[in-house]
Amino acid sequence: YQAKEGGGSVAAYDSSRDAASTDHLALLAELREALAADDQLVLALQPAVDLATGAPTGVEALIRWRHPRRGWLGPADFIRPVENSEQLGAFTRYVLDKALAVAADWARLGLDVPISVNLSARSLLDPRLPAEIGEALRRHQVPPRRLVLEITETVVMSELEIIDEVLATLRAMGVQLAVDDFGTGFSSLTFLTRIAVDELKVDRSFVIRMADSPEAAAIVRTTVGLAHELGLRVVAEGVETAEQRNALAELGCTAAQGYHFFKPMPADKIGAVLGSLLDAAPGNVFPLRADG
Ligand code: C2E
Ligand code: MG
Ligand code: MG
Ligand code: MG
Repeated sequence: YQAKEGGGSVAAYDSSRDAASTDHLALLAELREALAADDQLVLALQPAVDLATGAPTGVEALIRWRHPRRGWLGPADFIRPVENSEQLGAFTRYVLDKALAVAADWARLGLDVPISVNLSARSLLDPRLPAEIGEALRRHQVPPRRLVLEITETVVMSELEIIDEVLATLRAMGVQLAVDDFGTGFSSLTFLTRIAVDELKVDRSFVIRMADSPEAAAIVRTTVGLAHELGLRVVAEGVETAEQRNALAELGCTAAQGYHFFKPMPADKIGAVLGSLLDAAPGNVFPLRADG
């Protein structure tokens, strides 16, 4: 159920632009069909866990495309062209709708676990987004605090004001915000002074290098300290080994996500996994925002 990393035909994007742009047009036409067909774009779901208790702290929704001819595609195969197309809005609404449907299922099972959705920075340029998300939350009867929006802070300066306002509106609605790939952007720290967020996600690249790079370890430790000082949750991404898990726990990191715990899984598997994780960690309550 893993999507291949890069490698798809769209990976030619940077090297041979003409051929790739023709391919992009075809891909975007196919995306239009996929959004209408409703059975091609599916969410893979990956829990993050509390390192002390093993309880799920959240579940991230990761898009996959079961393409009728090209086979399984991962985000690396199609997200960039979608972001640069007029279909971004429809795509974003589709993903949010699927994710909130999953969250509504959990609520019916009595599982109090938030779902995280990745948003392209460009989708935050649409001032209608907060109202659309509010409508989707009501339609699915999901409380806003059960939705976490993951943002990467690679944003054009001239667009900051619009994005800041959209994010502030969403957070005022009670939706939670996470900074994804923290530490890799150009302005991570400035971002935190502009936008109130709830969670930092330590980028996988630092987790991978932690063991043999004192610099990477220092960045992880500092990010964890920063999160604690600001009263934010912190989740390490891409944890693949017990060594990494132990090192993270030693650095004070409280939650982690990665193949060591769970690979992204289909929606029909996740309910049982969450149920057994919660059973194994009785009394544990996900640390929701105090005012949520
Ligand atoms: P991300 O949000 O940083 O997601 C984490 C990526 O790391 C996912 O790749 C996940 O499958 C992968 N991963 C998780 N644990 C491990 C691990 O232990 N080892 C390794 N090697 N990888 C791990 P994926 O699903 O291919 O997604 C890649 C990126 O695509 C995401 O990075 C996110 O930025 C973007 N993306 C995914 N779904 C969506 C979506 O619905 N909308 C938008 N706009 N972007 C999305
Ligand atoms: Mg993410
Ligand atoms: Mg990430
Ligand atoms: Mg990452």
